[in-house]
Amino acid sequence: YILSSIGAHGTQERTLIAVKPDGVQKRLVGEIIKRFEQRGFKLVGMKLLQASEELLAKHYHDLKTKSFYSSLIDYMSSGPVVAMVWEGSNVVKTSRAMVGETNPLDARPGTIRGDFSVDICRNVIHASDSVDGAQREIGLWFQSNELVDWESCLHSNTYQ
Ligand code: UDP
Ligand code: MG
Repeated sequence: YILSSIGAHGTQERTLIAVKPDGVQKRLVGEIIKRFEQRGFKLVGMKLLQASEELLAKHYHDLKTKSFYSSLIDYMSSGPVVAMVWEGSNVVKTSRAMVGETNPLDARPGTIRGDFSVDICRNVIHASDSVDGAQREIGLWFQSNELVDWESCLHSNTYQ
């Protein structure tokens, strides 16, 4: 599957979105899915799981030296996470805008973090920050047979 191809519909990409344990506890799964569906993105993979420390260590490998790393791993393994793969034109950049700044105090109202969180250590949702990062993260969280390539009947009303 071509993860980032420039075609008639712009750059079709995939990104990893994860509702973090606090987001699941706050019953935000439906709200978050709703926002991505309504924007026009296509859900191609989804599961509820208890993330292992091994998976989280790979996922956050670039933050290993940070002071908050061990509390981040504790937080992310404190309960179930809903991991999703969303597909669409520029979905990586657009989903970061929908999610808002890492620190909820800087996240604008209308963004997911800006509407549902106030603490950087409980910021509700993860979104990949680049196309390459998304490809790496999707490979960590999903087997290829867990991703479904399906045709959206809305496609011609979503893209020119
Ligand atoms: N984080 C934290 N304290 C910080 C910075 C980050 O607890 O000072 C956590 C927070 O949950 C954040 C995650 O580490 O979402 C990953 O950090 P990153 O800088 O990649 O932010 P993101 O890409 O999630 O916006
Ligand atoms: Mg990040």
